[in-house]
Amino acid sequence: MGRGTQGDGEEEWVEEGEEIEEFEEEGGSGRGAQCASLFLADVDQNAGEWSTFRHFPVATQGVFQSAFNKLLDEGRSELTVLLLGKNGVGKSSTVNHVIGERKQKVNPYGVSTIDKPTAISRFHGDFTLTLIDTPGIVVGDRIHEATLNTISDIARERLIDVVFYVDRLDIYDVSGLDKEIFESVTRMLGSEIWANTVVVLTHGELDPPKGTSYADMVSKRIDRIQGAICRQGKVPSDAKPQAVVIENSSKCARNWSSERVLPDGTVVLSNLINTAVEVAMNAAPYEFNPKGKSPDAKSKWLIPLIFAAQVVFKRFVFDNAVRKWDKYNGDQWGPKQSEYKDEKYIAKMKEAKREYIRRQKLKQEGR
Ligand code: GDP
Ligand code: MG
Repeated sequence: MGRGTQGDGEEEWVEEGEEIEEFEEEGGSGRGAQCASLFLADVDQNAGEWSTFRHFPVATQGVFQSAFNKLLDEGRSELTVLLLGKNGVGKSSTVNHVIGERKQKVNPYGVSTIDKPTAISRFHGDFTLTLIDTPGIVVGDRIHEATLNTISDIARERLIDVVFYVDRLDIYDVSGLDKEIFESVTRMLGSEIWANTVVVLTHGELDPPKGTSYADMVSKRIDRIQGAICRQGKVPSDAKPQAVVIENSSKCARNWSSERVLPDGTVVLSNLINTAVEVAMNAAPYEFNPKGKSPDAKSKWLIPLIFAAQVVFKRFVFDNAVRKWDKYNGDQWGPKQSEYKDEKYIAKMKEAKREYIRRQKLKQEGR
């Protein structure tokens, strides 16, 4: 196995038979430019042909292709995946793993190495896969609101087919901070976001603690995270997000067709991409507007209802109240205000009436 050439402590990605090309700074193709225009200025763009696709094991290429074909059959030629999670959980490594390029900087110390989100689009035939890597949601031991705002700006700009909520398998508990993250993401993006989410647990090649099976360890970790998401995100438990375990390290065990496999035999990349496509096919793409939390957009559907309610109120409540208060029992001459008496006006009217009668009489006598 050829060792990677990156600096000490960095994950290595280059292997025998799986040569990974350095990224070519293209992005100049028509589609690349088109993708770029869809994005915010503060998102790094990176779009180009998926030239490293052919370096995947043949079996993996087949899985990718048939997953993309399922979407193409439904008239969908793109899959956009947004990666969220704390620092150091393996978001950037997951992006690199999925596109098969050492594109995103990976930080061995878990400190965020990017201060901007990065959208990487790769074109394969008629299909475009876009992965949006984001900085960690947490800085120190606090939720980083600026990052959350940037994430919601991205969601405003782009339809998101799938969210990868990335965390590590080898952590036992769901912490208070994790719960805060689920709560904040829900507050920002609405609980609908969880319908498009796959919980992705990295560091999947792990020996379970003594007396526990691998399957038990995995299902306990997944249950805890799903439970916390359902509670904090107000998601019914039968709509809990799917979860997959992956291993990003190139030292991971392989099957006969040289695909990375987990200790339970799961084929890592195939399982991840199939789950992503399944979620994309079962949930409508997440749209910040009008489903999201924007107060303007959220209330728009109320406008006709409020209008109808106003009409009903005026007709049956307000008008009746005014009539009652006003003693509005008018006759063919118009409204009559029996309570209020303008003596001068009444005298004038009486005089006018007398004058009218007098003239009528004179007229008749004159005839
Ligand atoms: P990010 O901050 O979420 O983008 O995390 P990175 O992708 O920078 O990863 C942080 C560290 O975890 C790096 O040293 C990676 O090499 C390592 N790492 C990420 N995923 C895995 C994995 O699945 N297995 C192992 N063993 N290490 C991983
Ligand atoms: Mg990163």
